[in-house]
Amino acid sequence: MAVTTKQHAYLQAMGIEVFIPQGSSPVGAPMAAVPATPESLPDITTHTQIVAATRDLNWEQLQSQVSICTACELHTTRSQTVFGVGNPHAEILFIGEAPGAEEDRQGEPFVGRAGQLLNEMLRAIKLQRTDVYIANILKCRPPNNRDPKPEEALQCWPFLQQQIALIQPKIVVALGRIAAQRILHTDTPLARLRQQIHHHVQFNLPLIVTYHPAYLLRSPQDKRKAWEDLLFLQQSLRDITK
Ligand code: SF4
Repeated sequence: MAVTTKQHAYLQAMGIEVFIPQGSSPVGAPMAAVPATPESLPDITTHTQIVAATRDLNWEQLQSQVSICTACELHTTRSQTVFGVGNPHAEILFIGEAPGAEEDRQGEPFVGRAGQLLNEMLRAIKLQRTDVYIANILKCRPPNNRDPKPEEALQCWPFLQQQIALIQPKIVVALGRIAAQRILHTDTPLARLRQQIHHHVQFNLPLIVTYHPAYLLRSPQDKRKAWEDLLFLQQSLRDITK
């Protein structure tokens, strides 16, 4: 069965090599951007180069590499990169899809009203923002809050992977449908992904799914389900660490 451009990008982003016949390339494959990289850091413009360049980086080096990244077109419209925030040794890693306007302004993920709701959700299970780590699949804001493109997720994926390698969390929580579907490489609706532990092969970590706080602001009737998911997270973490 032919692999579509979109599927190919997703599979590559997950580290799964796909055979592409010689002389052909998937339509819409990412274009290498012109690097603007200081001499002290490697020039990274392709997914493979980013994988190689990030593998051994420590936290500060990784953050520096992200801050100057020009590997996808989002670098042309960002105010700044949004690396992540929280405890670099957290047991729980929350992953959203991409920064929004406020995150782009402040350089921190999950700020503004959605961020406040996430803080409240954490407090509900007796956690502070500083107890967990919060990151996004993409480190730069897609313009007009559009969904991340597969090729952007592909280029940015190694940064997230290296964050996970450095944090070594016990469990990952995907926030919202897009993050969940991208990370799990599925089209299954969020409602059917919740309340179960997925084993993420590439992360080699358990992963659970819940609603994005921005969605909960628009659909407060689902806050009860989000609460159930937080309890499920608590119980899952207890089971993993006992
Ligand atoms: S979104 Fe990721 S891959 Fe694209 S420019 Fe920003 S840091 Fe680089």
